[in-house]
Amino acid sequence: MPSGPREAMKAPAADITPATFQTLRERLAADGVHSLLAQFTDVHGVARGKLVPLNQLELLMTEGVGFAGPSIWGTGLPRTGPRAEYYGRGQMSSLGALPCALPWLPGIARVVCDGYVAGEPFDACPRQVLKRQIARLAERGWALRTGIEPEFFLLRRTADGFEPADPHDRLDKPSYDLKSLPRQREFLHQLADGLTRCGLDVFQIDHEDAHGQYELNFHHADALASADHLMLFKLAAQALAEQHGMVFSMMPKPFANQPGSGMHFHVSLWSATGAGRTALDARCVFDDASQDLSLLGRQFTAGVLHHADALCAIAAPTVNSYKRLTVGESITGTTWAPAYVAHGPNNRTALIRTLKGRIEWRVPDASANPYLATAALIAAGLDGIDRALDPGPACTDDLFQLSLPQIRDRGIAVLPQSLAAALDALEGDSVICGALGDTLSREFLRLKRAEWTDYARHVSPWEMARYADAF
Ligand code: GLU
Ligand code: MG
Repeated sequence: MPSGPREAMKAPAADITPATFQTLRERLAADGVHSLLAQFTDVHGVARGKLVPLNQLELLMTEGVGFAGPSIWGTGLPRTGPRAEYYGRGQMSSLGALPCALPWLPGIARVVCDGYVAGEPFDACPRQVLKRQIARLAERGWALRTGIEPEFFLLRRTADGFEPADPHDRLDKPSYDLKSLPRQREFLHQLADGLTRCGLDVFQIDHEDAHGQYELNFHHADALASADHLMLFKLAAQALAEQHGMVFSMMPKPFANQPGSGMHFHVSLWSATGAGRTALDARCVFDDASQDLSLLGRQFTAGVLHHADALCAIAAPTVNSYKRLTVGESITGTTWAPAYVAHGPNNRTALIRTLKGRIEWRVPDASANPYLATAALIAAGLDGIDRALDPGPACTDDLFQLSLPQIRDRGIAVLPQSLAAALDALEGDSVICGALGDTLSREFLRLKRAEWTDYARHVSPWEMARYADAF
């Protein structure tokens, strides 16, 4: 959609000069780049943007390029007036030390944009939402590092839906299946290689526990960079899967009889003690010589557990998410999707698995917006620290082996079992809504309530089979 007039103000000059842009343009041109992919992320965690010729680099990085605001999910922007225009302003950090063309999109370099409206940072841009929470950490001298672990399916379309793209992928317990993995080697290699060339540190790829399901891991980074990396991963995987005649899916639970796709977050908080605040003098404040998790780590964990229900709406934000988080027996014995509000040392059956100096937050699924999920996580963790909350005793039980009454006897709560219940929790949680900001929390709740209503009205084949002639 064409943009309106360029009414946004120029960004402050900072230390970037026209000569910097010229050098950058030349470097990109030398790598064969002719266009820039100005990319931002909407409230649903979907990449959006436009192509901009390389000669517009300076404009993209200073004013930004314009989009019709109300055309973007979750902005709540009006159709007319100065606030109708959403500017995606390129962020230098996203071009990296070695700016390059995307290996799967020759001639095109990706530039991550922040949202601006009327010359100001736009409060409901998910990346700006995360930056606000990162700034709260920085005020205390802290920085959050996250390692985001995407699980995904490779599918193909059939006459009446989708099925795993590889028809031979059918082991009973398909985790680490080395028969099927090599059949997708070309796609997986192109994906890992493409991301590596863009600066991501890819360190492992495996077959996950469902037919057609895989996981690719790249190294942890500071929270904003990790979310940017996750979006790059999605762009790459979607484009490459299409080139291979497949459908890349981050739907949380595509098949009723198979495990779903999680997107676990490994989380650690760091403090920079030296004046220079470089990576070299950073110290992990979740680490404690005498135990796995420091007091701060335990308090952060307590905050995440305390706000677990509201966080669920952000980290498991679709109707389908709750098919993954259902209580009951694990399907394969290793489904591991947590439905219980508990923490425990190396306990994958709990919502938080604690490790030496870090926690793994296991609720998020593959449909979560990584910026919003991280922002909400920080707000919950900081609330735990500010109120010195205690996470309670560590859980060492295999929670999938216990009955619901046994779990309740241990004082362990169950996560919301539907999107509607999670949205109610979010609406009642001023800490998480406050972190998202008025506009974004209002728009998120409005859109997601509508998604729920739409679902609630539909009648499924399961209902017809069960009820049509039952009464
Ligand atoms: N697929 C599982 C989930 O939905 C996680 C499996 C694992 O622990 O890697 O969370
Ligand atoms: Mg996994």
